[in-house]
Amino acid sequence: MRDSSSAEPGGESQEAIISFEREPRTTSYLLPNSDGALEEITMEVELRRDPLTQRSGRLAHFQGFHLQRVDLSAVVTTSREGCPFCPDRLLEVTPLLPHAAEGRIRRGESTLFPNLSPYDRHSVVVALTEQHFVPLEEFTADQIVSGIQALQDYFKSLAPLSQGSFSLVTWNYMPLAGATQVHPHIQGFLTDRPGNLLEDEIRSSRAFYLKHAQRYWDGLRSCERQLGERFIAEAPNTFWLTAFVSKSVVSDLLVIFPRYRSLEELPREAIHEFAVGLCSALRRLAADGVGSFNLAFYPSPAGEPDDHFRLHARISPRIYFNPDIQGSDTTAWHHLLEEPFMVRSPEELAALMRDPMARSLAR
Ligand SMILES: [Zn+2]
Repeated sequence: MRDSSSAEPGGESQEAIISFEREPRTTSYLLPNSDGALEEITMEVELRRDPLTQRSGRLAHFQGFHLQRVDLSAVVTTSREGCPFCPDRLLEVTPLLPHAAEGRIRRGESTLFPNLSPYDRHSVVVALTEQHFVPLEEFTADQIVSGIQALQDYFKSLAPLSQGSFSLVTWNYMPLAGATQVHPHIQGFLTDRPGNLLEDEIRSSRAFYLKHAQRYWDGLRSCERQLGERFIAEAPNTFWLTAFVSKSVVSDLLVIFPRYRSLEELPREAIHEFAVGLCSALRRLAADGVGSFNLAFYPSPAGEPDDHFRLHARISPRIYFNPDIQGSDTTAWHHLLEEPFMVRSPEELAALMRDPMARSLAR
């Protein structure tokens, strides 16, 4: 049985339907109750496909699951000594860019330098803050803005960008999300090989554009605004929602920049709006018990002939399933079968984020 809810982008072509495919499945088992009698329990899972890439994922209800904030104070203390990104050490131990005036790019509190362990020809790190540890709920919009502006400066210094190159930005916040340092830092890469997911998105977005003569990203905004269940908020430069098929077990936030294709194109007001929304989202996630996340920007490649793609970002909370035994949220389903599953639905996450984020972005 297959249930597909779809919506037609407002006033646009009949063919341009974006489909949110859901396939519910039920299973049952017998469980002894307090009297020792066997009780039949029925459980439901839901299989989904991403409306752009058709990649699969599922919603599964995890018995007894609840979020617990993990105490990181010991990790914060032990990592402070010897931290290469703290201001008293950074200029002595981090590498220098061969072609930048002072070897590094500085904006506000942020300092950009080459990655000691590069992932590609152009691979840099931005130490985002002067403070060694910033709790999720205490990042300021100015800190986020200065970090992104340092990366913009870097990408622009590499211009003219070669055909097909992507300016990528990623953030692993705290060790659970893959960070090798506690000190807040983000990464930048310029590459023609942006990874499987973005390659898939570009291919699918181009195919949608050629088939329907409209952008998938515009259609998605119309659909999600109309359906309302995953919509969070919108402002002049950004559109916030949750991902129908999320990577995080507690679901992902998506931010679409409806007028921009790459990070270099963003004017300061768009970066500031994103930063305000991000800080608001992080505060709400922290209040919910989240202490770690991954973030990535998905840009259009330089020189893309059709104007079909829109810059977007994904914010993916990372959690311990069971903090008592340091039980990670990355299972064989995610890691080896590439089938993400969510124990909290994107619709529940959107309901949680909607009011606080709409208030922050309206200010
Ligand atoms: Zn530090």
